[in-house]
Amino acid sequence: MNAVSEPFDLAIVGAGAGGTLAAIHALRNAKAGQRIVLIETGAYLGEGAAYSTRQKELVLNVPARGMSAFADAPQDFLDYACKHDNEGTAREELANSFAQRRRYADYLRARLLQARALGTARLLEVHACVMALEPAETGVLRIALASGIELQARNLVLASGNHPRALQVAGGENLTPVQCIDAWDYRVIARIPVDAEVCIVGAGLSMADSVQSLRAHGHRGRIHAVSRHALLPLAHAAQAAVHEFDVAALHALPLRRRMRAIRAHVRDAQAAGLPWQSVFERLRPHGQALWQSLAFADQRRFLHHVVRYWDIHRHRIAPHVQAQLQALLDDEQLCVHRARLEHVAARRDGVYLRLRLPDGATQDLDAGVVINATGVEHDMEKTRNPLLAQLLAQGLARRGPHGLGLDTATDGTLLDAHGTPQPCIRVIGSPRIGTLWETTAIPELRVQAEAAVKALLNA
Ligand SMILES: Cc1cc2nc3c(=O)[nH]c(=O)nc-3n(C[C@H](O)[C@H](O)[C@H](O)COP(=O)(O)OP(=O)(O)OC[C@H]3O[C@@H](n4cnc5c(N)ncnc54)[C@H](O)[C@@H]3O)c2cc1C
Repeated sequence: MNAVSEPFDLAIVGAGAGGTLAAIHALRNAKAGQRIVLIETGAYLGEGAAYSTRQKELVLNVPARGMSAFADAPQDFLDYACKHDNEGTAREELANSFAQRRRYADYLRARLLQARALGTARLLEVHACVMALEPAETGVLRIALASGIELQARNLVLASGNHPRALQVAGGENLTPVQCIDAWDYRVIARIPVDAEVCIVGAGLSMADSVQSLRAHGHRGRIHAVSRHALLPLAHAAQAAVHEFDVAALHALPLRRRMRAIRAHVRDAQAAGLPWQSVFERLRPHGQALWQSLAFADQRRFLHHVVRYWDIHRHRIAPHVQAQLQALLDDEQLCVHRARLEHVAARRDGVYLRLRLPDGATQDLDAGVVINATGVEHDMEKTRNPLLAQLLAQGLARRGPHGLGLDTATDGTLLDAHGTPQPCIRVIGSPRIGTLWETTAIPELRVQAEAAVKALLNA
């Protein structure tokens, strides 16, 4: 390995939205002359799986008013959107609208550029995959890149983000990348022949994205979606509203009584003329406290019995996207199967799928192509990320509670295999799901990114 001289004050691994936010906050908080390195496998900053699409039909799942990079300037993305809106849309309307995803990556890059210009620290951008970390005796971390180059840093933010879940079905390993496409592979989805029969595995947000992509490219063929629960994402309310109630009172309740109380709040909201979404708007900032106040056994029950219902209410889509899905369902171009995908096999002209229905019967499907929309892999041992594999294998990290993500202290400090904190490594975003539950969206990422870099740069 080629060693590179001076250690950086801070290394950030991953430059999706989380790592880019960390770089922005680091530049704003670093002392003059401090050196930061931002390392990203992909070619572009600020994208990751969520914002890499250039397709204008794919929009954010959160209204513009909720997407600022700065907790202390919550209107910042809205200000940016207003400045760059060439159609002269009223500010109020833009605040409640769902911006194109590609615009969000542009926004993050613009704020990074600004922070670079105004800051006195230096930022180096490296495009490479981090293969391994090794704490050296000198107190610095050695960072091995796929190219064979080695960097050194005193501190590190791990922002490795979301990883797509592999299609876990008998026969799945025999499908070619042309027969089984990942839902986040927007460019390949765009090339699916418009008359092909498509089977999407999963019925959540990634399914909605895939259908949007197909629709945008004029797809005419039948689209099947297969899911065990067949619960489709629900839409945001047309107007933002919050139903006020005492959230802290929920913390003392065990899961079953808590869910009953939430349903009662929904009834109260509706009786007061508010949409059910107003209850979830009230709960939204308290997601971490709600998770952490559940007993371990109740967290497990939540994961087994409640999570799918919770997700469709909590992670909503733009109303116009839901209306488009509904129109396709009404026209029977989109058909949702409540079933478990049991087996797939490659055929010369496509893919054969066998579904197991709730009553035990089977159903056969023949599709030209399968889209894997089964979502995010939270078992870090299954992610195929070489860095995560190395950290786990060498005991520098361990899986988080319930096997979800990586185990961290409350401030995000990485815990090793023995539960010992590694004070120079902080984790942000999706890998903290087991500890925080609510940890992937921008309102959480911006707070975690800022807190992590402030603590590390001032250590
Ligand atoms: C399709 C989709 C849509 C979403 N829409 C919204 C939305 O509208 N609003 C919202 O608030 N949230 C949304 N989210 C949630 C999303 O998790 C966050 O907004 C955000 O994009 C997560 O950023 P991240 O940097 O943590 O992870 P990622 O976006 O996954 O980025 C991680 C980055 O790290 C890099 N990386 C990983 N390992 C290494 C390594 N070993 N070496 C070098 N680089 C590495 C990857 O290449 C990647 O670029 C969405 C998520 C998805 C998947």
